[in-house]
Amino acid sequence: MRYISTRGQAPALNFEDVLLAGLASDGGLYVPENLPRFTLEEIASWNGLPYHELAFRVMRPFVAESISDADFKAILEDTYAGFAHSAVAPLRQLDTNEWVMELFHGPTLAFKDFALQLLGRLLDHFLTKRGERVVIMGATSGDTGSAAIEGCRRCENVDIFILHPHNRVSEVQRRQMTTILGDNIHNIAIEGNFDDCQEMVKASFADQGFLKGTRLVAVNSINWARIMAQIVYYFHAALQLGGPLRSMAFSVPTGNFGDIFAGYLARNMGLPISQLVVATNHNDILHRFMSGNQYDKDTLHPSLSPSMDIMVSSNFERLLFDLHGRNGALVKDLMDSFRQNGKLSVEPERWTEARRLFDSLAVDDEATCATIAEVHAQCGEVLDPHTAIGVRAARECRRSMSTPMITLGTAHPVKFPDAVRKAGVVEPQLPPHLADLFDREERCTVLPNSLTEIQQFVSAHGNRGKPL
Ligand SMILES: *Cc1c(COP(=O)(O)O)cnc(C)c1O
Repeated sequence: MRYISTRGQAPALNFEDVLLAGLASDGGLYVPENLPRFTLEEIASWNGLPYHELAFRVMRPFVAESISDADFKAILEDTYAGFAHSAVAPLRQLDTNEWVMELFHGPTLAFKDFALQLLGRLLDHFLTKRGERVVIMGATSGDTGSAAIEGCRRCENVDIFILHPHNRVSEVQRRQMTTILGDNIHNIAIEGNFDDCQEMVKASFADQGFLKGTRLVAVNSINWARIMAQIVYYFHAALQLGGPLRSMAFSVPTGNFGDIFAGYLARNMGLPISQLVVATNHNDILHRFMSGNQYDKDTLHPSLSPSMDIMVSSNFERLLFDLHGRNGALVKDLMDSFRQNGKLSVEPERWTEARRLFDSLAVDDEATCATIAEVHAQCGEVLDPHTAIGVRAARECRRSMSTPMITLGTAHPVKFPDAVRKAGVVEPQLPPHLADLFDREERCTVLPNSLTEIQQFVSAHGNRGKPL
């Protein structure tokens, strides 16, 4: 499998190089040159497989030339053995023909573990083979940081630096990062906000001199391997509910358009999906596109669902690429003009094409809490605010009552106690593997909002705590 850039100028790469590359050199995002396509018979034959075996079948075509079947199988088995529920991604029924897929049984209680647990293991596999080390730098407002650190904690060849805004992440989220101890794990609390953290990471990718030749790797959702890992659970859910012989609808709480783009790919790989619902909070650039063909940058308004607080959606470009007949030059022009004007719309036929599959809804904090309360009263389930947004959108946008509607349950409610409390629902307890989270030792360095100081810190500690 070869991967090409959405802007058409960067060289095509194989899986191993895409994993290490992050952004393409032309500023675009990597996508598979040809998507694998499975027949209905083939998909049906996977019925009843354990999660890691299904994962092997779905992802094999994407990685086949880069890693042996035996190695990939072993990595997948190890990746998903660490999940607290033996079904890995169990379905929970909310109402007649309505379900939540619980994607929060991984080590950090959010769906990002599905991809980042795999990504850490794949990185280490390839780096060992190459005899190389890398540095990972990432900025987080909460979920990504802990999932990335958990994913890399046992990597021999990776040092990971995660920047979070000092005193501006929840205590559960901070402790999930800072209590993972290891000489290759570096938590940095920046005296600034999330944007400051993100700017410093971006600046470090743009000018890597401080790394003295060590490669810098990105683990945000522009990394293709993350999208790839998320395709699997769409197949998994459908197979539980009578697919592929009947089609499914999914509702996906969305920020950077990563998780829902994986569902779009699952459909293009042959899984019958008749509807995908884009569920956003009041930071609703994706809803404005889907409902009115206006992808316009707005200011950021903090919400009760902070993992979806975004101004622009980094993976949206991957959808634009397909909507424009995979013409990289057209996408480049569109993105250049978006960068200048902060606005984008596509030709009416292309937008109509997107609307055949996608619907959308923006859900504010009040409706989020009302949905948490409503679902709790209906069936006793406690939803986290992101998942609640998905359920609200599923209910309002549903096209067919006879098609199973599955909302992606992206986080465990214990991670977002504020919203659950505001909804008037009793807060759930931390699961057993995190029960002592508040007693664990924390390790974190507070640094000023200064690029030079951050980069000095990275180069002084980037080799298992020693200088690069
Ligand atoms: C990251 C995250 C999202 C948004 O996912 P995208 O892939 O960016 O659309 C939604 N919910 C939770 C809990 C998250 O951590």
